[in-house]
Amino acid sequence: MKAFVYRGPGKKALEERPKPGIMAPTDAIIKIVKTTICGTDLHILKGDVPTCQPGRILGHEGVGIVDKVGPAVTAFKPGDRVLISCVSACGKCSYCRKQMYSHCTTGGWILGNSIDGTQAEFVRTPYADTSLYPIPEGADEEALVMLSDILPTGFECGVLNGKVQPGSTVAIVGSGPVGLAALLTAQFFSPAEIIMIDLDDNRLEMAKRFGATASVNSADGKALETVMKMTGNRGVDTAIEAVGIPATFELCEKIVAPGGTIANIGVHGQQVALHLECLWDRNISITTRLVDTATIPMLFKTVASRKIDPKRLITHRFKLDRILDAYDTFGNAAKTKALKVIIEA
Ligand SMILES: [Zn+2]
Ligand SMILES: [Zn+2]
Repeated sequence: MKAFVYRGPGKKALEERPKPGIMAPTDAIIKIVKTTICGTDLHILKGDVPTCQPGRILGHEGVGIVDKVGPAVTAFKPGDRVLISCVSACGKCSYCRKQMYSHCTTGGWILGNSIDGTQAEFVRTPYADTSLYPIPEGADEEALVMLSDILPTGFECGVLNGKVQPGSTVAIVGSGPVGLAALLTAQFFSPAEIIMIDLDDNRLEMAKRFGATASVNSADGKALETVMKMTGNRGVDTAIEAVGIPATFELCEKIVAPGGTIANIGVHGQQVALHLECLWDRNISITTRLVDTATIPMLFKTVASRKIDPKRLITHRFKLDRILDAYDTFGNAAKTKALKVIIEA
């Protein structure tokens, strides 16, 4: 089968690989129908994710058709159409019992990381019963690819942890796919204001179309002053960090109002200053989370009923044999205006 393989920092290749087989009784083999590329895959390619070793097939998102199941799999059978969660969950360990699947002691985010992933014709998914979701007849599979990772990430780490409420004021720092996923799902709770902050005017334009009430281009270094002016000098109730660099987290520390919440989504590879000297008396909360994908069943229903349309995040489509072009397009988003790219196997 064809597979996209990480070959060490800065190196990648589309290779011929043997089709995966069942290794544990709880496994399933899925024939990939559609997958996508995540910002995390770009981090891996740079060499930023040490758990992912050269030779690994990347990808942790996708929909497909069950090809084979292990003898212990009871919820799925060959021919079933399924959504693959980016997080594998045994369903039995103490973290899984708390719905903290991201910290499953024998699972978590392993697909396309410590085991081979979905950017291939076939993938082996561990703990199939508790890590796959059935796709109902007639569902829009492209929209559902957004449910493997980015939609639950924006919703769980940003919106739920950030305690977005009716009438509240929200700022989302970072208007990439995950920031936009937070923007889409924040609207479940009807906040009064959603201010989107980014350096890229195209992405801010998208954010406006996705329901942002205001946008701030932070390139002039005056985002703090602008947000304070917009909020009557009060700041925001929820500041969602969706970039993962020190400057954006520190901006959240400055724009959060007393009693507010800073909800971090970004993957941070560098030390960030915590300004407790400014925050100690402001009754704020800071939250962190790795996506658990515990909200996939609920998000499924909101997509089916068209409360949200995550398909709007898709800007480009490629066949699997053109995945190198797909990476170039996704990796040069400022130029190509790419958000999510769909790859058809
Ligand atoms: Zn991801
Ligand atoms: Zn577990």
